[in-house]
Amino acid sequence: MKSFALKMASVALAAALLASCGSNGKPQAIPADAEVEAKVESVLKGMTLKEKAGQMVQLTIMTLEDNTHEAIDPAKLDRIIGEYKVGSILNVMHDAAHSREHTAQMVKQIQDKSMEVLGIPCIYGLDMIHGASYLIDGSFYPQEINLGATFNREYARMMGEAMAYETRAAQVPWVFSPVMDLGRDPRWPRQWESWGEDPYLQAEMARIETVAIQGNDPNHVDLEHAAVSIKHYMGYGVPHSGKDRTPAYIAENDLREKYFRPFKECFQAGALTAMVNSASINGIPTHANRTLLTGWAKEELGWDGMFVTDWADIDNLYQRDHVAADKREAIALGINAGIDMIMDPYDPECVNDIVALVEAGEIPVSRIDDAVRRVLRLKVRLGLFENPTWEKDYPDFASERFARESYDAAVESEVLLKNEDGILPLKGTERILVCGPNANSLRTLNGGWSYTWQGNADVFAPQYNTILEALEQRFPGKVTWVPGVVYDGPNWQYDVVASLQQAVNVAKVSDVVICCVGENTYCETPGNMDDLNLSANQKELVKAVAATGKPVILVLNEGRPRIIGDIEPLAKAVVDVMLPSNYGGDALAALLAGDENFSGKLPFTYSKHINSLHTYDYKVSEHREVMEGSYNYDAIMDVQWPFGYGLSYTTFQYSDFKLESDASFKAGDKIRLSVKVTNTGDRAGKEAVLLYSSDLVASLIPDVKRLRGFEKMALEPGETKTVTFELPASELAFVGADGKWRLEKGDFRFSCGGLGVLVNCTETKVWDTPNI
Ligand code: BGC
Repeated sequence: MKSFALKMASVALAAALLASCGSNGKPQAIPADAEVEAKVESVLKGMTLKEKAGQMVQLTIMTLEDNTHEAIDPAKLDRIIGEYKVGSILNVMHDAAHSREHTAQMVKQIQDKSMEVLGIPCIYGLDMIHGASYLIDGSFYPQEINLGATFNREYARMMGEAMAYETRAAQVPWVFSPVMDLGRDPRWPRQWESWGEDPYLQAEMARIETVAIQGNDPNHVDLEHAAVSIKHYMGYGVPHSGKDRTPAYIAENDLREKYFRPFKECFQAGALTAMVNSASINGIPTHANRTLLTGWAKEELGWDGMFVTDWADIDNLYQRDHVAADKREAIALGINAGIDMIMDPYDPECVNDIVALVEAGEIPVSRIDDAVRRVLRLKVRLGLFENPTWEKDYPDFASERFARESYDAAVESEVLLKNEDGILPLKGTERILVCGPNANSLRTLNGGWSYTWQGNADVFAPQYNTILEALEQRFPGKVTWVPGVVYDGPNWQYDVVASLQQAVNVAKVSDVVICCVGENTYCETPGNMDDLNLSANQKELVKAVAATGKPVILVLNEGRPRIIGDIEPLAKAVVDVMLPSNYGGDALAALLAGDENFSGKLPFTYSKHINSLHTYDYKVSEHREVMEGSYNYDAIMDVQWPFGYGLSYTTFQYSDFKLESDASFKAGDKIRLSVKVTNTGDRAGKEAVLLYSSDLVASLIPDVKRLRGFEKMALEPGETKTVTFELPASELAFVGADGKWRLEKGDFRFSCGGLGVLVNCTETKVWDTPNI
């Protein structure tokens, strides 16, 4: 605990030191390093226009594949690196993860060529989303949505460190992680890729993971750390249609206050690169949004890192969004808005297009030089000029330590949502029917971005336990398996009824039914859908086994909260395991058996009705029981389970919630609060203590409440601990109608564990700076 507190203090200090001012008095998100800058200038000055353009282009490794799809074709390498001078490669061949050795060997080939013909190293990037999730032999952690549910910052650090270490071990210095889109709309197929719906939780976890991946000095990233690409900048998670890569409409003040926040904190903590939102905000494709790219990030924060496009998003500017007439116009639009590297990802002609645009005066040379500086700076900061590849042992690769962390994170992330009559933990004597399409699948435990883009852990990682296998090991001789419903082969999004009657027959002679339902794997547009309800077949299965009168334990294994309002009452217990990865089955078996205790809490609102999809920070008029003139901050919306909900086998009592600082405050003050939490049950347990604030009167309709702090702690039976929260009063400010941050005088209420205290702000402050 102590070393964790120290580590967190050093993360905060590193972030504070980083967000400083340069010698010209302008903000600098990452302090400039004279040696790094000198190296960048010396390389830049010797470059031709074509070489510069090449540095700004990134292609997929598929453009280098030979006919086996396993190796690089030397002729293609000559063409792409030699002739076109492309500066970056991404992705895996044949949409499948390779081993560490295989990946390292491919990178070496690319680097040798790049150094030979350009004298500039190439930079290779991979989608490591939940650990080294594009290496066959890498360590996988639960997906970010699960880590959000732990409310335990330690797991963001652990996953970041392991991901960077193992990625470096494969000679890759760049990960497209962390994902930090606010998952505020469960219809969106990428909700599970980030940490849930709340900006503060998102910002905390993403910043910690960023520092864990890169280390404490972004100017000198060592051989155990890698560059991040925070993504997807920004507002990607709330498409109006619910479908991936479709337009969002976000109020300006929300954009600044909620969506920008996690990115701003990561920029200021040293994030070296960012990937741009594929879609659009208020009619402007983000790839063409100069205000957000150049204005907010580069100018306001003084961020000297690099913006890379998402996959083919320059093409989207003309082919999909029609804000440009053709490819050249689209390239100019993007680069002039602030794009530094184009993930084309297939066509090296993009390099010649950039050259032609500069020659035609459509892109100023100064913009090209600025972009290329940013690319070179990244490569220098990563030490790639000295070490395009490197000799180093990585003894912790795929270690027991990483496996243990992954298991522990899975245990802390699976959320117990219902436990009627104390049916859980199981006694161990019950005859158990295990059914449902998710019971015997590693693929569904992992979700997308796992060995392949759409996820296929069943093929790549059979050595781990599915839920069924873990239950069979934990309850030998007690488990019978009948799927009832299965996912339908190539139509993997759909399921079909199979052996449903047999499931019912076995349920009749069992003592308990563990029904594992949810979703098959997906990510991005293949995960689009038209009905958030859990599938009709799976609901039918739940209804059929429940009709036997045997107690049903419903296990939800899904990337987004599928609506289950009609079947939830049929279950005695409900556990949402979300996407807990390779140790998720073992974790669940241990939790159901009572060997471990539940401590996860939902990092999103679990909606109950298809037409009422909410977030916890709603406006009070959205509450369906609102009465004219009433403003009930304690109102619970009619949701299935609220944000922050999760049960344990023990009970916790909150007491003595009080202010440690003055009852009145001004903008520059710090507010300190403390609360006592006692484990009043007879089992050890962990509790995530969540602190909320409510602004009681404001010039814009205030959110009903906002998360302002969280702390996870372990308590033995009978033990009491005190948690102290300290936050700058400016945290309570909001962005007003004029786009300015303001903290208004009046009362605020803090709440924690059902207790509340009032504080009073004695004077209104309006900031003139865009960021506070
Ligand atoms: C995704 C990104 C990913 C990129 C590279 C895109 O389709 O939106 O999240 O990093 O592909 O694989």
